[in-house]
Amino acid sequence: MDFEAFFKGELNSLHQEGRYRVFADLERHRGNFPRATRHTPEGKRDVTVWCSNDYLGMGQHPAVIAAMHEAIDHCGAGAGGTRNISGTTHYHVLLEQELADLHGKEAALIFTSGYVSNWATLGTLGAKIPGLIIFSDALNHASMIEGIRFGKCERVIWKHNDLDDLRAKLAAADPKAPKLIAFESVYSMDGDIAPIKEICDLADEFGAMTYLDEVHAVGMYGPRGGGIAEREGLMDRITIIEGTLGKAFGVMGGYITGSNAVCDFIRSFASGFIFTTAIPPALAAGAVASIRHLKNSPFERARHQDRVRKLRASLDARGIPHMMNPSHIVPVMVGDAAKCKWISDLLLDHSDIYVQPINYPTVPRKTERLRITPTPLHSDADIEHLVGALHQLWSRCALARAVA
Ligand code: PMP
Repeated sequence: MDFEAFFKGELNSLHQEGRYRVFADLERHRGNFPRATRHTPEGKRDVTVWCSNDYLGMGQHPAVIAAMHEAIDHCGAGAGGTRNISGTTHYHVLLEQELADLHGKEAALIFTSGYVSNWATLGTLGAKIPGLIIFSDALNHASMIEGIRFGKCERVIWKHNDLDDLRAKLAAADPKAPKLIAFESVYSMDGDIAPIKEICDLADEFGAMTYLDEVHAVGMYGPRGGGIAEREGLMDRITIIEGTLGKAFGVMGGYITGSNAVCDFIRSFASGFIFTTAIPPALAAGAVASIRHLKNSPFERARHQDRVRKLRASLDARGIPHMMNPSHIVPVMVGDAAKCKWISDLLLDHSDIYVQPINYPTVPRKTERLRITPTPLHSDADIEHLVGALHQLWSRCALARAVA
């Protein structure tokens, strides 16, 4: 086989469909978020970032940066090993205590990313619990899907957020089989929210465990930033709550929380936990500082929601179509991969606004979009600038009509 020709052919079809991903080469500056410097072959330009998952700007927070500096000064760069073999520092222990407390659980377990936490945990449960059936929401994240596949247990996909379909599928399964319902709270691309209470009710009725991905909710919802389950008083009804340290907490890493037994089971059997180097102590220290800050400060959450409302109102005022949802994710619908890339390129090149286009397979074809994520640090002027630039582009290509 001519491997080079194969690779180039595959990449070529991505180019032709307008789905070829291009990185924006950005330099973030301390204290200047959401501004960043964009490096191009022609030179540098300052841009405003509108698609960051550093949802609350905690990646630039002085308390987080100070904690990371202190940990580096104190214990150096890397963890020096897997968690079992010399890689557990006191910062890791503190972080797991902090996370267990955040979600009202007995224990927590840190992974190198949210992706790995989903993949390793669901994969291990699927592989180790005899006869387990995993009921997975149709819009679950790739990391959950891959984990469930890796575990090779029986899997049943239920229609997204559809309680009737979930009930029917639970009822059709062997009543004696152990069951797990896997779902998210805030769905990352549409920004809609799962009916957590009703799913827990079904789980109780059919004797199933529940696995909730709160990656797009932790830090941002609930009185202490514990996520949607905290906001709705449902944390104790979820068997395993999974989250990330890389989005609202502004650092990197993933985790699960649950009972002592379930966390110890995953710690003891998950290859994705056991056979990989622990996150650097400075990351753990930064995450502890971030979680502690957000547990005690409602300011970032309130200002975040205010910015979301303001952006939506401005989009409405200019007739720019955006998907309505009850979260902080504002999908501006384009419905065509090439147009989506065209708009994103023009925003960047002419208005110094950076919003990455979201195309298939991240979202279904014909639902291509700009996924806009306001932060507490976007000003009224930033919102005006973004919406004004979008409005001009919409008028130019009559997108409003095309999308309607
Ligand atoms: N779950 C969901 C729903 C996600 O959207 C993502 C990443 N975008 C992850 C898990 C993975 O988290 P991380 O970025 O920490 O790997």
